[in-house]
Amino acid sequence: MTAGAARGNFWWCSNCREEVDPARVTFQERHDSCGHAVRWIDAKPTATIRGTDGQPLDRSEYADRLEAQAYGPADGDRVRLTYGDGSTVQGTWTTTGDGPVLHLDDETLHHVNGASQRTILARSDVGRRVALSDGEGQAIASLLDELAGVYPDEPLGELARRLAVMMYDRMGI
Ligand SMILES: [Zn+2]
Repeated sequence: MTAGAARGNFWWCSNCREEVDPARVTFQERHDSCGHAVRWIDAKPTATIRGTDGQPLDRSEYADRLEAQAYGPADGDRVRLTYGDGSTVQGTWTTTGDGPVLHLDDETLHHVNGASQRTILARSDVGRRVALSDGEGQAIASLLDELAGVYPDEPLGELARRLAVMMYDRMGI
């Protein structure tokens, strides 16, 4: 794992959530260990978000993080991990101080790092508490749209647009 401060250009694997050494990027622009597509990050700093080192984060890396937060597994979800050798393990996604783990049916804990694929089998109701008025929802979706206009053609703007569309859909707009 890398600190994530904006510091130049690099290859990024959104599956492993780490910077990838150019020597480990295949001809097809994939990460040689997990097989997922890597992305060339042209470092652009966030406006207000700072890393633990006090430096601005890279916007695209930040977008990856937010995307995982929005669409990736959440606590209580039933998740299947698939490894590069085809083996799988299933359990309940649980966030610990040591990062996310799967709580397996035999009561053991399984660290999720290194899995090549995370499949959400069932969503939990835990953590789905945010309720907004229609006016609040429309205002937030409009702000997301504005953000998408500020950062066009880059992951942060694309994520903002996708979330705005999701909100409009849910409000029937
Ligand atoms: Zn990878």
